[in-house]
Amino acid sequence: AIFVEDLGSTNGTFVNGERVTRRELEDGDKIQVGTTTILKFSYHDHLDERFQRQMYDAALRDGLTGAYNKKYFLERLEAELAYAVRHRSALCLLFFDLDHFKAVNDTHGHLAGDAVLRTLAAGVMHAIRREDIFARYGGEEFALLSRGIDMEGGRQFAERIREWIANYPFEHEGTFLPVTASIGVAAVPELDVTDPDVLIQCADDALYAAKEAGRNRVVLASDGK
Ligand code: GH3
Ligand code: MG
Ligand code: MG
Repeated sequence: AIFVEDLGSTNGTFVNGERVTRRELEDGDKIQVGTTTILKFSYHDHLDERFQRQMYDAALRDGLTGAYNKKYFLERLEAELAYAVRHRSALCLLFFDLDHFKAVNDTHGHLAGDAVLRTLAAGVMHAIRREDIFARYGGEEFALLSRGIDMEGGRQFAERIREWIANYPFEHEGTFLPVTASIGVAAVPELDVTDPDVLIQCADDALYAAKEAGRNRVVLASDGK
């Protein structure tokens, strides 16, 4: 049994509206402490807890790849950029898009394409730090947000990911699939940006420039944006 006990507080402790000094709790009891805090007591078994956590996590993640979804990414980008600006710390955004991915689907089928996306996401998630935010931004487009990494650090990080993708033996039903990615890098403090949409635009412009320059490469956003 679990009890709630009031240790002589001024405002008292209430269970279901009744003032108590000590009371055994039952599932669903509402506990009021102080004048504004109401808690609900409930028993959770292991399965319940795992289910709730999974539901919470599923709402944040993309179903195919397990990467965070765009909605969660945008929320985090806003918070992380505000933090970086306030503390004058570095924050780096990588935008990457697979090269000629339509050709992979056309040649090897949609399932092969799906397998590439899953393997690629798993590889990136394995390689990054716990606090990095890796998200599927669109179909074959991903975003990676890293605290404490400036533009030059971002270039190196992006170059490592680009190389890993280009060299990884992606494979589907016994056939090797050639996969490369183009990556755009945008970072503060090098870019004088406080608006998350502008940071995304900078990374996206750099990504576009990487495509234009021949793909399978990293381009840094230039300022003046
Ligand atoms: P580029 O180098 O210019 O990016 O060429 P691309 O072919 O990658 O560009 P485009 O945007 O024209 O095509 C993207 C392709 O990605 C189209 C679509 O078939 C594929 N794609 C997007 N999402 C998925 C997905 O979830 N699964 C699979 N298999 N393919 C996807
Ligand atoms: Mg593409
Ligand atoms: Mg694309």
